[in-house]
Formats: sequence, structure tokens, C-alpha cells
Amino acid sequence: MPVQMLHTDEWATCTVLTEPGNYHLEGRCEDCGVATLARLNLGEVEDRYHVGRVTQEQYEAYCHLWATLSPTGSRPEWRDVPQDPTVLRIARKLCRAKGLTAPAHLTAVS
Ligand SMILES: [Zn+2]
Repeated sequence: MPVQMLHTDEWATCTVLTEPGNYHLEGRCEDCGVATLARLNLGEVEDRYHVGRVTQEQYEAYCHLWATLSPTGSRPEWRDVPQDPTVLRIARKLCRAKGLTAPAHLTAVS
């Protein structure tokens, strides 16, 4: 059964996003998921992905950003620009959560 994801707007709309100890259940809120991703390293993201705690879209966004921004540790296929609008949006939100400007290819309308 697919999980309904909350707060899938371009900009973060989750009202509990920055409240300590008051977070959404894992896997239910895109904004909170991005905030979690921003705190994890690549190995942690891969571990969580393999047990279903990081979604396919979150994983692809994280890996693509890693391949774009990090000189090491990425697989060549991660450099391919994602086509899924959800993956692109999560990648942009992840950039913001990290305090980075999203690369231009993530903001281009496909
Ligand atoms: Zn949330």
C-alpha cells in the first residue's frame, strides 16, 4: 500500500520541521525526510535505503546530489540528471536544507 506523503510542495511547508522532539513519523513527510537526509552520510543513506527507511525518490535525489557535489565516492550512473519531478524537487530541497544553491540543471523545467 503506497504511503501518502505529506508536504510535497516546492518549498518546505511542514510546521513542525524545526521543532525539537516534535517530528513527523518517518516516511510520511517529505520536508522532514529531507531534513533527515541532510544529516546523513552516504553510507547511512544506503543502509536506510536497503531496509526501506529511505524512499526510492529520496535515494536517487541524494545520490545524484552526491555525484554532482562530491569529488569522490559516487557511481558514474548517479551523474545522470534525474527525470522524475519528485526526485528533482527532493534534490532541490536537499540543497536548501544543506544551505547550498541548487545546481542549474536541477531547476530547469524539463
Ligand atoms: Zn514534517
